[in-house]
Amino acid sequence: MDSKLPNEEQQPLIGSEKMDRRSFLQKSALTLTGVSLLGPFSFFDQTEGLQEYPFTMGVASGEPWPDSVVIWTRLAPKPLEGGGLTDETIPVSWEIALDQGFQTIVQKGTETATPTFAHSIHVEVDGLEPAQHYYYRFKAGNFVSQTGKTKTAPNYGADVAEMNFAIASCQNYAAGFYTAYDHLVKEDLDVLFFLGDYIYEKGSSADALRKHLPDKEITTLEDYRIRYGQYKSEPSLMAAHAAFPWIVVPDDHEVKNNWGGDGPPYDDNEAFLRRRAVAFQAYYEHMPLRKTSIPKGISMDIYRKFSFGKLAEFSMLDTRQFRTDFACSGNAEVDCAARFDPSRTMLGDNQEKWLAETLANSQSHWNILGQQVGMAQVGRKVNGSMSYGMDKWDGYAATRSRLFDNVQKNNVKNLIVLTGDSHKNWVNELHFDPDDLESPIAGTEFMGTSISSAGDGREDSPVGKELMSDNPHIKFYNEQRGYVSFRLSPQELLSEFKVIPFVTKPDAALQTIARFQVTNGIPGSKLV
Ligand code: FE
Ligand code: CA
Repeated sequence: MDSKLPNEEQQPLIGSEKMDRRSFLQKSALTLTGVSLLGPFSFFDQTEGLQEYPFTMGVASGEPWPDSVVIWTRLAPKPLEGGGLTDETIPVSWEIALDQGFQTIVQKGTETATPTFAHSIHVEVDGLEPAQHYYYRFKAGNFVSQTGKTKTAPNYGADVAEMNFAIASCQNYAAGFYTAYDHLVKEDLDVLFFLGDYIYEKGSSADALRKHLPDKEITTLEDYRIRYGQYKSEPSLMAAHAAFPWIVVPDDHEVKNNWGGDGPPYDDNEAFLRRRAVAFQAYYEHMPLRKTSIPKGISMDIYRKFSFGKLAEFSMLDTRQFRTDFACSGNAEVDCAARFDPSRTMLGDNQEKWLAETLANSQSHWNILGQQVGMAQVGRKVNGSMSYGMDKWDGYAATRSRLFDNVQKNNVKNLIVLTGDSHKNWVNELHFDPDDLESPIAGTEFMGTSISSAGDGREDSPVGKELMSDNPHIKFYNEQRGYVSFRLSPQELLSEFKVIPFVTKPDAALQTIARFQVTNGIPGSKLV
């Protein structure tokens, strides 16, 4: 494992203060009440027990607000064996500074890593300045973590001239190298949106590039923790987490392929819900999320809003947990009327109401949704008639109609939808009536390709040509790996589709293959 660790200088944690064991214990005692230093679980004994470098999964930050970010790490000397710690509780101190050398520390504190959350640490650092870069790091025992860089959001209502962000999704470890992240870390981003499929739950196929651990379909909390340990100790991914804050939403593979709602069509609903609960637990443990997202049994609160001044509001959706079961048993090859059934839902009542109100009340120039599955209608001709994907918004057409009705009724400005899941790059115009391409455009969907899922892509796609000819509102389609970066100003959104030609070998070069622009007040995108 040592060769995978970054070459960070191991500095004492608290600036010029000498960090001897006694002062460390006193600091810990100040913030951790009710724990006896003399008892059998004293910090003295625990930190003595930490013999190996515990920050094997690096550091991360997320959830940028104007005055607050979450900083994350997990103590795991043996990440591929479930972590390597047992029932210890271990104090972890943290500090956040204005400079990389930690000369100007603005806050510090201590939290306790507990077995309940696999010794992960989620600090919600408050009282920060808006639109400000910060550096952060952790210490446990005698070990200091890598340094992460993060940034707070601009103040509410602030005029923001420009914002830079990117979308990424679908990083099947077994399918390819994370070369895309080696390029992504060079971008100067305010935030990265990860739109789902952070892990994949299956074992690995015989020809897998990198074998999954454990090499079987994961179902227990122990399994999921090992799988996250494997993904999160990947150096390119760690570097991307350390480079900027992430805003994350899960899709299906964080739990199980194509799951939706309380589990049907699975045979054993109870077993599925048990599995969903441990999958949510492991997701929270490994993501820089706020405490509001701590799972409560089978439930997790993950839909939420982020504001970047007056420039943009991002509504992050949960299109899995509250959806109705598949229409027509998920069979895309039939003429399925049930997909229009208004009693079927993609978001559930509460989230749908929340989203409608959020959009109606927005004062932002741009209203952006970050979500999991394709929103634009995409028909494929099968034996002369159109078929639609039941796992996507096409399978929940009534929810989509209600969303577009709200956009129209409330005159929602500049609707942009950011989507993951498909392992392909797309630009799709979202027409109010998907079957009438003369109807006005409600917004534009940018669907980003995978980091590694589906392995080496292809530049030339016969499927793409067919889809674009059958669906003229698809403006762009590409099957290579990579990510999409965006530069947003009050006047325009400029997207850049950045791809790499292969992921089954390392070191692929990055290429920008298309730029699409959306102009403020003018629905629809154009190639620039
Ligand atoms: Fe995926
Ligand atoms: Ca997916």
